[in-house]
Amino acid sequence: MRGVVMHAPGDVRVERREDPQIIEPTDAIIRLSASCICGSDLWPYRGVEKLDGPSPMGHEYVGVVEQVGDQVKNVKVGDFVVGSFVISDNTCEICQAGFQSKCVHAEFVAATIGTQAEKARIPHADGTLVATPGQPDPELIPSLLAASDVLGTGWFAAVAAEAGPGKTVAVVGDGAVGLMAILAAKQLGAERIIAMSRHADRQALARFYGATDIVEERGDDGVAKIKELTGGLGAHSVVEAVGTQEAFMQAVGATRGGGHLGYVGVNYGVTIPGFDLFLAGIHTLGGPAPVRRFLPDLIQLIWDRKIDPGKVFDLELPLDQAAEGYQAMHERRATKVLFTV
Ligand SMILES: [Zn+2]
Repeated sequence: MRGVVMHAPGDVRVERREDPQIIEPTDAIIRLSASCICGSDLWPYRGVEKLDGPSPMGHEYVGVVEQVGDQVKNVKVGDFVVGSFVISDNTCEICQAGFQSKCVHAEFVAATIGTQAEKARIPHADGTLVATPGQPDPELIPSLLAASDVLGTGWFAAVAAEAGPGKTVAVVGDGAVGLMAILAAKQLGAERIIAMSRHADRQALARFYGATDIVEERGDDGVAKIKELTGGLGAHSVVEAVGTQEAFMQAVGATRGGGHLGYVGVNYGVTIPGFDLFLAGIHTLGGPAPVRRFLPDLIQLIWDRKIDPGKVFDLELPLDQAAEGYQAMHERRATKVLFTV
């Protein structure tokens, strides 16, 4: 099969890879219908995250089950499925508590599987995959693909930040996850949603998804602006969807005393001064999102056409042009790139 392999920063190739095989009786093999590039794929592309040799890329996926192991019961050959970017059994104590991304059998799809490819082996298929109610119309596929990570992650961030009726929600970051957190905050009933963004095209998308206010300032100025918009108090709920030092501290500063911060930007080199966090007096919850917890509901919302997360993809390319897709996201010519397989 063909699959994307990153050899070094800036060096992405589409190569022949071994066809995946069933190894464990709990595995499924899926033929991917679409895949995409995540903001986190840019960390190794930019050389921020070190690569241990050539790495298969991709962890977001939707597709059709082609083969299942003997013990797989919940999905069958021919099902259209959506899976999380973290493998989970969905039965252990941690999964049952809703934190499938920390499952005792957790495995990052990005690390070993690589779904920017024609096929993928999904371990713990019963716990990881969710079948859609039927074969989706082609126009639903981008939205279902978004559920696999960016929508699920943005949704978790909004839930972690306790977005809801009567709440003012501030979202730091206007990438795909930040935009999806805006969509989630709106669905969860937030009264006011402040998008922190300085790109005109993303501001427009933020408003489409439910932002009521836009703040262009960053860092301390951004915090001051949020305070100004909230009577000096700060937002009830803040989502951090970037993962840099400045963004994280901006999110801490924008959260009111007793408020909630949900952080899902992949933190590289962020150092949180304990005293600042202590003084903030806020609730914090974050980490790799337990997307699997939300998948059944998100799939239904998409199926019923109540949400349209697929609009977050603004460039569609065939898998063979993966290198161009990475370059476009790196240069911010695209918010999120979808690969047709
Ligand atoms: Zn588990």
